[in-house]
Amino acid sequence: MNTTSKSAELYERARRVMPGGNSRTTVFRRPHPFYAVHGAGCRITDVDGHVRIDATGNFTSLIHGYGNQKVLRAARLQLESGTCFCMPTESEIELSELLCERLTTVEQLRYTNSGTEAVMNAIKAARAYTGRAKFAKCEGAYHGTYDPAETSQDSCPSNWGAPTQPSSVATAVGTPHGVLDDVVVLPFNNTEVSEIILRANASQIAAVLVDALPNRVGLVPATPEYLRMLRQVTRELGALLILDEVITFRLGYHGAQGLFGIDPDLTTLGKLIGGGFPIGAVGGRRDVMAVFDPSRGTPAVPHGGTFSANPMSMAAGIATLQDLPPAAYARLEALGAQLDAGVREVFLRHRQKGQLTGLGSLRRIHFTNAPLTDYRSVVAAPSVANFANRLFDNGVIIAQNGLMALSTAMTETDVAEIVSAIDHTLAAENGK
Ligand code: PMP
Repeated sequence: MNTTSKSAELYERARRVMPGGNSRTTVFRRPHPFYAVHGAGCRITDVDGHVRIDATGNFTSLIHGYGNQKVLRAARLQLESGTCFCMPTESEIELSELLCERLTTVEQLRYTNSGTEAVMNAIKAARAYTGRAKFAKCEGAYHGTYDPAETSQDSCPSNWGAPTQPSSVATAVGTPHGVLDDVVVLPFNNTEVSEIILRANASQIAAVLVDALPNRVGLVPATPEYLRMLRQVTRELGALLILDEVITFRLGYHGAQGLFGIDPDLTTLGKLIGGGFPIGAVGGRRDVMAVFDPSRGTPAVPHGGTFSANPMSMAAGIATLQDLPPAAYARLEALGAQLDAGVREVFLRHRQKGQLTGLGSLRRIHFTNAPLTDYRSVVAAPSVANFANRLFDNGVIIAQNGLMALSTAMTETDVAEIVSAIDHTLAAENGK
């Protein structure tokens, strides 16, 4: 470890007061993390003065990058008036109006402080609405850290069971068996098998939770047949369909549901809708959302939250959405296509087995030419973690699993710089 750097020094201090010196597993790095001091556009400066391109946009949340002037202005204005109150503010109505206008399946919504809580409340709403205990999710999909939602997000060949009957695998040690018993795990994109599993649990399932472009399942899109089956079968069984758009809302003006033509009962949101501040939201059909309604006595699902709908997140979220017209998505799409073409060309030139998955502003690198269709096919591919670490040293930050999220702050030159860093990193590797 370079103990002379300020980051190394900070990490030594951090280790004394935080387990492993860490408060967020996703940003842990060996031998130590680098500590950020400033962000501008798509770049972060660390405490030692190194500047790197953040090609994750704080893990997909900063669709306008760092320091967007409109977002800053809105946040500053709110800051002067108060950061949180024991009263609602008009801003929560305004953000809801903007979201309901974009998401036609969302008639009403409520805010939380994270995507995790949004998913948790969606599952609770589905249980309360249907009077059923179980819910189904796809193997490998990440939906935050609520016990049932994190089931089988990290399963492996030794515990994941038969392909036609994926096991419910605990993520956190000590997860009660009762939790796992109430989670039905579906093989992503396997329409036939998933339908059989759902029908076998027919009268017990409150909801199916699905992400149309799940990052941890390889950022492989759900097939139209798969989504059609989920919609049809949930309706038939009296269960709800919950679409997790915490990440995918950035795919288009009408989110993934517009892009894929899905009609969920509930939608979960987070990340970009807070403009860089903590947020989550659950929204959907008015009759389902009524489970949260306190105006007629104790609601079926009580939901508070000291910072829920706090005006800082609302103000930054409103400014973010107002600066996201349909044309912004077209531009992000073009940058995504440039990245895709650039990386493919680099892979070919270096004879590197690999492919990019994803859509629009979301892309993920894999080091395999084998078809990627579900979680198991993605786990079988070689890890890109070491490559991501060397790319970091070459000035570009991507997630350890190869995920990238482009922002409106990026230009074609920035994307070319990302491609060039990938090129140099592979060249250095091949030269070894
Ligand atoms: N759902 C999805 C699809 C996510 O990607 C995430 C976070 N990466 C979450 C839920 C949880 O969101 P948060 O980190 O805000 O709790």
